[in-house]
Amino acid sequence: MLQALTLEDLTSFCIRRGFFFPSGRIYGGLRGFFDYGPLGAELRREILDDWWYYFVRRREDVVGIHGCIITHPRTWEASGHLESFFDYLVTCSRCGRDFRADHLLEDAGVKVVELTAEEISRLIREKGVRCPECGGELSEPVPFNLMFTTYVGPKRTRASEAYLRPETAQLIFLNFKDVYYASRLKLPFGIAQVGKVFRNEISPRNFLFRLREFEQMEIEYFVNPRKMDDCPLFKDVADMEVQLLTAERQEKGLEEPLRITLEEAWEEGLISCKWHAYWIGESLRWLERIGISLERIRVREHVKTELAHYAIQTFDIEYNFPFMGWKEIEGVSNRGDYDLRRHQQYSGKDLAVEDDGEKVLPHVIEPSFGLERIILAALADAYTLIKGRPVLSLHPRIAPVKVAVFPIVNKPDFTRKAREVYHMVKEHYTAIYDEKGTIGKRYFKADEIGVPLAITIDGKTLEDDTVTVRFRDTREQIRVHTSQLIQKIREILENWHHHTTRKT
Ligand code: AMP
Repeated sequence: MLQALTLEDLTSFCIRRGFFFPSGRIYGGLRGFFDYGPLGAELRREILDDWWYYFVRRREDVVGIHGCIITHPRTWEASGHLESFFDYLVTCSRCGRDFRADHLLEDAGVKVVELTAEEISRLIREKGVRCPECGGELSEPVPFNLMFTTYVGPKRTRASEAYLRPETAQLIFLNFKDVYYASRLKLPFGIAQVGKVFRNEISPRNFLFRLREFEQMEIEYFVNPRKMDDCPLFKDVADMEVQLLTAERQEKGLEEPLRITLEEAWEEGLISCKWHAYWIGESLRWLERIGISLERIRVREHVKTELAHYAIQTFDIEYNFPFMGWKEIEGVSNRGDYDLRRHQQYSGKDLAVEDDGEKVLPHVIEPSFGLERIILAALADAYTLIKGRPVLSLHPRIAPVKVAVFPIVNKPDFTRKAREVYHMVKEHYTAIYDEKGTIGKRYFKADEIGVPLAITIDGKTLEDDTVTVRFRDTREQIRVHTSQLIQKIREILENWHHHTTRKT
């Protein structure tokens, strides 16, 4: 790991190499919005596809939906977002700039978890917090709702107002009964969705970490409330050891997590139910599957004051970023029957379903991943120095480009053969071709953007049709006949851990 990977280093690397660009950059950019560049777009697809494979296609108990972004306004009355989805805003009385109150307090060294307006106001005065831009005095905190409003149809009136969804979850609840009937499901089952969400964050910051437009990957898993501990799949995760920071420890001022298996955590009553523990475990397994090191992951329980209005118990899956410490990349929440009950109440429709001959309103466990935060963690985790050179040691499952093809020298016999190999590989894998500069430099460029394998066409290739295949992380090389090449690449990529010596 590079000693001090800063957020600035990572941001400029991502822009330079075409992972992300500030949106509207030629007009000065729009804060909180990033466009995906060519490498970012591939990385995004790989992560979304693998998530969908792992949590939906592979399973018999989860189906997917793809809901609308502009949503019926009643949705957010029922869900509680209109009332409760806000942050406190303070405005500078001199320069007029707006700030998120808890961020200013955090910057002033105050640990804040969901304070009331009165407490924020008192702390701002007590700590002498002023405008970070001009030193001006700050206003009293006012609640600012984070939902983006738009108008449906030609009339811009209160009646035509609708909201851009701030989470994908609610679309799952709205469609719950239709999906249940259409897919002939039986409890317990899950409904998954990936897609864009929008939050009008007061102060977007930290590159991809706090955006105004981002993507979520969510599952709502519905369980008979009397069977929350009846989880036949639990054995898959029971022995997994996790770093668990309970609310109780935090309330005692302890920062050190417990190292405990999920089974022990459940037995000791630290996790609300078996299904909740199971979904924490499955989430961690997927994060590991895409190459994120579980050593840098902890599971932190929300303390009472930060628990959302809908939640019985919530755990944040946090990654230890080298540039900002432990931060949430996923939340796994027990939402009880809050959402279905509220939608039932607001719509007047019966949302209960049959289980074991009785009608029940299911309870819900929700794993909620933020795509861009997963990407930020994956990049931070993969960014390494090997022999003094930057290598993006991404797992091949998500690497945006899998194979690079190079002629050893830029001469017609070599480039012709190399392009032939390149086109053959490109039929199966994302690949790049490069003939410019020394072979060493080309290897380093490919390592930097995380290409797991580089194929080189050299003098021997022209004699016997074999090529070299070089491994990004070990720089080891093997020789393979072109007729075996695709099969060999597949073998290597599918068994990646046998071929790497992963850095610590
Ligand atoms: P929440 O509904 O706030 O628990 O968010 C669920 C997930 O969405 C979080 O774990 C994050 O990964 C992601 N997320 C939330 N807010 C943002 C944001 N402003 N920018 C990027 N990702 C976010």
